Amino acid sequence: MIAEIIINRSAKRLNRTFDYNIPKDLEELIMIGSTVLVPFGKNSALEEGYVINIKEKTTYEVKDIAKIKHNLTEQQIELAKWMAKRYFCNISDCIKQMLTPGTKSKKQENNIQDKTINVVYLKKEIDEIQFDIEMGKIKSEKQKKILQFLKNNDGVTVPEIEIFTGGTRAIVKTLEKNGYVEIVEKKVERDPLANKKIEKTENLELTEEQQKAYDLVSQKMQEEKYEQFLLYGVTGSGKTEVYLQLIGEALKQNKTAIVLVPEISLTPQMLDRFIARFDKEEIAVIHSKLSIGERYDEWNKIKEGKAKIVIGARSAIFAPVQNIGIIIIDEEHDSSYKSEAVPKYDAKEIAKKLAKENKCPLILGSATPDLNTYYKAKQGKITLLELTHRANNSKLPEVEIVDLKMELANGNRTMLSVKLHDAIEKNLQEKRQTILFLNRRGYSTFIMCRECGYTVKCKNCNISMTYHKTENKLKCHYCGYEENVVTVCPECKSTKIRYFGTGTQKLEQEINKIFPQATTIRMDVDTVTKKNSHEEILNKFRNENIDILIGTQMVVKGHHFPNVTLVGVIAADSSLNIDDYRANERTFQLLTQVAGRAGREKLDGRVIIQTYTPDNFSIICAKKQDYEMFYNTEIALRKQLNYPPFCDIILIGFNSLSEKEIIEVSQRVYMELKNNLNKDEFNVLKPMPSPIDKIQNKFRWRIIIKGIMTPYANEVLNNCLKKFYDTNYKNTRITIDINPNNMI
Ligand code: ADP
Ligand code: ZN
Ligand code: ZN
Repeated sequence: MIAEIIINRSAKRLNRTFDYNIPKDLEELIMIGSTVLVPFGKNSALEEGYVINIKEKTTYEVKDIAKIKHNLTEQQIELAKWMAKRYFCNISDCIKQMLTPGTKSKKQENNIQDKTINVVYLKKEIDEIQFDIEMGKIKSEKQKKILQFLKNNDGVTVPEIEIFTGGTRAIVKTLEKNGYVEIVEKKVERDPLANKKIEKTENLELTEEQQKAYDLVSQKMQEEKYEQFLLYGVTGSGKTEVYLQLIGEALKQNKTAIVLVPEISLTPQMLDRFIARFDKEEIAVIHSKLSIGERYDEWNKIKEGKAKIVIGARSAIFAPVQNIGIIIIDEEHDSSYKSEAVPKYDAKEIAKKLAKENKCPLILGSATPDLNTYYKAKQGKITLLELTHRANNSKLPEVEIVDLKMELANGNRTMLSVKLHDAIEKNLQEKRQTILFLNRRGYSTFIMCRECGYTVKCKNCNISMTYHKTENKLKCHYCGYEENVVTVCPECKSTKIRYFGTGTQKLEQEINKIFPQATTIRMDVDTVTKKNSHEEILNKFRNENIDILIGTQMVVKGHHFPNVTLVGVIAADSSLNIDDYRANERTFQLLTQVAGRAGREKLDGRVIIQTYTPDNFSIICAKKQDYEMFYNTEIALRKQLNYPPFCDIILIGFNSLSEKEIIEVSQRVYMELKNNLNKDEFNVLKPMPSPIDKIQNKFRWRIIIKGIMTPYANEVLNNCLKKFYDTNYKNTRITIDINPNNMI
């Protein structure tokens, strides 16, 4: 294979590609975007270059690439191979996660201060773009190349695009005009940590519970032994303080630490706590919104051993840290640790593997642990560490429940109950802030009787059926069971059947009508854009003392607003009726977390949860803030219905332009799996259309398997995929996802 390479020098005459041969032993490692060393010029001195294209042949006589500079370790390659098997993807997909992006940030080179740069982002879904390419809507090779490049490196500058793709600013502009990319002006901050005056903090004297947790973990660190811990502590119980001191211990041992946090809680306030305790030179921060250049800087800081503490979202688990002393996953129940894009990995699994290799402890921390994690802790597979008190002795807020059925009976047809309405009014008078939370998750709509709260559930799966408008039918997204739409409630014979799916926009309009004097700000997928990050919206809410923040689940995580004393949940039921076996768990977690936003400091907080089903146990448990009670009820249900942790859900997705082909392929895969997987251990459900059965003219089908994922099953599935790739089904793609976040 031949690589087209651009030499990393600024001389204009070198602004062209040179062909090099890729030696056999580098073939698997070299890819577009790799940084390599090549013999160049008269005396063939080694020069750094970027691989911008790979092709079969060249007409020139070429030299070999001498070396690849992304010196991935043997361990990383092994991990990539393991991931490829485990998550059913190419090795290269996994290697890509670990590579250093190949350019220095402009920030470092020129020390730009308070200037702006233009960052280019994809504006359409990758599938959509792929489809447009396949349909010949995008003809220009240069345009295709830029889009391909952005697919792997979303958020790059125009000069970066020019270097890597040979494209020009004009082509990027054309893509913008055609709606494929957006160019966002971003302020280049000075080193965001540079001028920050952060008061240094010392280790606090640990409470008895904290000390016990600390001792158990640090003992494993001394012994250099792997062990998995669950640090289960209510919000404000001092989990972070325990993390900080354990990281301190790792540094003392001359080791490093990885801390994963949910993307959305990677805020300056959170980072400040680390900077206050450690030397900021020792900290590297990694998340998906970094430009390729910023990522390069952070990655290198880690590689060179300067940064010993890596803090980041999911992808930070692939940071090139050596000699890890501890791995911490905060808010471990958060769904963002599972990747929904290829490679569809689970960062918790990768963390476990790394911790084992490095012979160090892994800590999962949460106030509402993932049911699977807590189950393992109960079984003794994970060591449970508990913090039962708040460290600063502030009170947990008062939670009240309003029965919306009663509101309706009393003639109130608005989205606000009398109680919530009055509480908002009182809060406005007292100049305190309010958060209103509307959980509009996924695409599904469900129907519910407004008199008695009845919803239609699948007979086989105990999951809310989803309303399909086109066919006017109710469908179960797990087993395919169908029912006609009900117009009369089977429970109470009422005809007040309603379709749910109210949005935040409508809520904001209603609030503006009811409280014209109040200032409001909205946060949901429509208002949070690349320009307007959730952080900026939250800052505005805080700094301008806006009266009411209206938002989806984005508002619930980790934020701290001293002046927020009221939190209202508009309809707790909307997360209960998603077509997902985790509906109860998600509801409980969301409500517990949203409640935690109120009264974080001296002012007492009040939480009002509106619901049609006040008797539902996840709502009752959230009111009591009783995780144990929730766990006991839910785990019994899971066992009865055979859901995780009692099995894994394996989702095989098919995607095709041809309906005939997709039916044929899925049927063949189904037969293959039926024949090869043990019937007693695996329940292979028959292929059927996905809940969203067509996207952009592509048909979508799926097969769901319930069973415990074993190395044997993994082998069977991989073989099945291999067999399929050897066939002639050119129009169909298959993906496999284990325990996906959503089943759509
Ligand atoms: P969590 O991470 O569990 O939400 P934090 O670590 O943020 O809890 O602690 C909550 C508050 O309690 C913080 O203000 C923290 O400084 C304080 N805190 C934690 N541990 C102690 C301690 N041992 N003594 C005094 N204050 C503490
Ligand atoms: Zn009814
Ligand atoms: Zn069903």
